[in-house]
Amino acid sequence: MKRGAVLERAMKLIDMAVSEAFEGNLDLSREYVKLAVQYTSKARVKLPLKFKRKYCRKCLTPLIPGVTERRRVRSKILIRTCLVCGWIRRYDTRNKEKLEGRNRRRGRNKDRKKGTHGGSQGGNKETP
Ligand SMILES: [Zn+2]
Repeated sequence: MKRGAVLERAMKLIDMAVSEAFEGNLDLSREYVKLAVQYTSKARVKLPLKFKRKYCRKCLTPLIPGVTERRRVRSKILIRTCLVCGWIRRYDTRNKEKLEGRNRRRGRNKDRKKGTHGGSQGGNKETP
């Protein structure tokens, strides 16, 4: 299976899991998430952060505020608690880059772009 197809399937599974959890079928939704995690880890695909944060890392239950998850903001820090297993995660809302997981590769990409730009320009010398 291609990576794109795996990713699409995994995201669909997580969406399904969330809607099942909404209806109270926690066991079924957990199976969906488990499948999605297995698919992506086998294909070595990284699930987008948006989807990664939709489920509990510990018990794989989809996190829905008020149903399976408790959200509290204390001094600008978001605290997410899984109501099924008690897993707690804190997100600092003051640092938006960290919140969205964007700050990881920024520095490196800039350096690489310089190198590739120089190479592609060299090939366009055929114009008179
Ligand atoms: Zn949990």
